[in-house]
Amino acid sequence: MGVHHPPLYPHGSKGWERHVGVPEATGGVRLRQEGAGGSRAQGRKRGTHRQTAGPTDRLRRALASRGRDLAMWALLLALAACTPAVRLGLGAPGTSVLELEPPATTEARVSTTAPQSTPTQPPSAERRTTEQHVRIRVIKKKKVIIKKRKKIARPKIMVTARPLLTTSPMGTSEIPKWQEPDCPPLGLESLRVSDSQFEASSSQSFGLGPHRGRLNIQSGLEDGDLYDGAWCAEQQDAEPWLQVDARHPTRFSGVITQGRNSIWRYDWVTSFKVQFSNDSQTWWGSRNHSSGAEAVFPANSDPETPVLNLLPEPQVARFIRLLPQTWLEGGAACLRAEVLACPVSDPNGLFPAAPALGSSDPLDFRHHNYKAMRKLMKQVSEQCPNITRVYSIGKSHQGLKLYVMEMSDQPGEHELGEPEVRYVAGMHGNEALGRELLLLFMQFLCLEFLRGDPRVTRLLTETRIHLLPSMNPDGYETAFRRGSELVGWAEGRWTQQGIDLNHNFADLNTPLWEAEDDGLVPDTVPNHHLPLPTYYTLPNATVAPETRAVIEWMKRIPFVLSANLHGGELVVSYPFDMTRTPWAARELTPTPDDAVFRWLSTVYAGTNRAMQDSDRRPCHNQDFSLHGNVINGADWHTVPGSMNDFSYLHTNCFEVTVELSCDKFPHENELPQEWENNKDALLTYLEQVRMGIAGVVRDKDTELGIADAVIAVEGINHDVTTAWDGDYWRLLTPGDYLVTASAEGYHSSTRNCRVTFEEGPVPCNFHLTKTPKQRLRELLATGAKLPPDLRRRLERLRGQKN
Ligand SMILES: [Zn+2]
Repeated sequence: MGVHHPPLYPHGSKGWERHVGVPEATGGVRLRQEGAGGSRAQGRKRGTHRQTAGPTDRLRRALASRGRDLAMWALLLALAACTPAVRLGLGAPGTSVLELEPPATTEARVSTTAPQSTPTQPPSAERRTTEQHVRIRVIKKKKVIIKKRKKIARPKIMVTARPLLTTSPMGTSEIPKWQEPDCPPLGLESLRVSDSQFEASSSQSFGLGPHRGRLNIQSGLEDGDLYDGAWCAEQQDAEPWLQVDARHPTRFSGVITQGRNSIWRYDWVTSFKVQFSNDSQTWWGSRNHSSGAEAVFPANSDPETPVLNLLPEPQVARFIRLLPQTWLEGGAACLRAEVLACPVSDPNGLFPAAPALGSSDPLDFRHHNYKAMRKLMKQVSEQCPNITRVYSIGKSHQGLKLYVMEMSDQPGEHELGEPEVRYVAGMHGNEALGRELLLLFMQFLCLEFLRGDPRVTRLLTETRIHLLPSMNPDGYETAFRRGSELVGWAEGRWTQQGIDLNHNFADLNTPLWEAEDDGLVPDTVPNHHLPLPTYYTLPNATVAPETRAVIEWMKRIPFVLSANLHGGELVVSYPFDMTRTPWAARELTPTPDDAVFRWLSTVYAGTNRAMQDSDRRPCHNQDFSLHGNVINGADWHTVPGSMNDFSYLHTNCFEVTVELSCDKFPHENELPQEWENNKDALLTYLEQVRMGIAGVVRDKDTELGIADAVIAVEGINHDVTTAWDGDYWRLLTPGDYLVTASAEGYHSSTRNCRVTFEEGPVPCNFHLTKTPKQRLRELLATGAKLPPDLRRRLERLRGQKN
């Protein structure tokens, strides 16, 4: 799920949000609106996938979550005045709106986020970075990049996006001799490197300890949090270093650094040296080819953008140290890092074997951009023509098609009694794992079907599966171009129009809850299939074409069960995603189907290997393993306009969000492991469509199915409806239920249905009898002459009315 910038004004705009002049009454939120549109949960949702936000925005959000006390503005301004890293100009809420644009390039970032030296703190000679300094260096870097591109240009089959090379130590250009493919990350970000493998010269607090020096780690909300946003050396530490023990002889080839992620201040390292050791006692440094001097690498110029430095020459060692040389003035040496490292053979078996990362499934474990994805889907379809169909549900803003792979024994048609299920991935374009997992899943289903695997064959025979690997292909292409290590935390999240798709669905929660408060549900206002609000259907509503396409898709196919695949955390979250109390940042907000949603979530979490690993450390700043790796969405952070809530309130489909991994865009060599982590969960989750009751509602006389009949379960204030042929599925946990089927023109019918732990679904069919009034109506409509007794009855009825 998402960073969750709450969009619009679900309960009317309040407070300073009004100043921004955001058009109201649109279903979604544009990026530009987010900082200011702030809303109900800004502070809390920083957690998982927070966007890159300016410090002003963060402060504001933090304050917002603390009650939006206007008096805090005074403090805020005071903070701004005394913290050099925090820019001025945050008085007017509207002013920082532009800063929230995801950075397009390093250069753009520098010009918008370069720190300004404040009059109170004149720059000192040593360890300072003035704006001028940063700009000059970046310009040099640009030159180097251009030069190098010319020299390095050689025909090569690119397997993944290759990151830009920036190997120049402080402006001198060095072309690495080393021409092998990039080494993969050692695993600081993916957590393959454990906390105990980190060490540092000093750290400001436990929350800023060496184990927090991981690329893209996200901080908690509180200042001085146990989960702060980087490793930070003590301010007095004159010779700081951060050390990683690879535990094996390793060929180190590069280092990626990033600044500190925190609400309260900016910090980043502007240059550093790298040293190596085999025993952590004797160290040697990385040296320039030309001068032979110890290399000094240029590092960061903002808190978020990852910067890659390849070493002039790869070094084989067990330990690596990063030694910050200069950092942002007035701050401390704070950084997050990843290390690129290739394993080295160990013929004598001197070191314990590294854990295997493989999968025995013969699948295509790579990242696929739009073209490669389309090709792969075509290949799967050609390999398994009898059980597949590729179709498109619409186009992105840029015109890329939203492809769906359908897999079933009768592709292309809804079979009576066969439930439809879906997986949707990539609504946040930079959360790339879900996309690859769905591409792997379709290959796997095809291969296992050809092999005759009974479990897969049964799933394909009894269900119709729809896989949408990329709901936001525009955002993905942006992220893919940057590459898995350099894309940072937020780039590519939004659509080309700057829309966060998981806030872009119509908010149906508010009208439902208002009607409930007025005592109108379910008699006057239904508790299901709530209509789109008028504002959402207006031509000028901010609804992304991707969102519209998915809504039309949801209406076209009678989906029963879905999961929405995200990344950046390891947890399954279930509806409601939006808090019921207006403006509450977080609040437990269960649906009437809480038991089913908790079951569904627990099934995924319980069969996902990574979530079940009892030794795992929290991804960022919350430990979801304490609660079985499942959480109510609104209890985590409110998300108005989420796809899950919309799906539940506008259609029959139950949908949860799966946060697949701590790393949003894992390196491609992690894909086999991630596949193994999720393979069983992906299968088992879809099989849950068998849990509950299902059947057909028919006309007693004609035996024809009745469309749109309502299935109500006593005690659950949420009904479902039948599809066109009268078939329905009602997910339920084991128990005895009193179920009523009703349809216009028919007498309702009620019966007991028992759901057991045995494999279902339990058949629960209904035959409804037409009401006399309906029979009469139909007779008259056909122009038939009424039999005398009926005519007398009709006249009597009319007389009664008058
Ligand atoms: Zn997400």
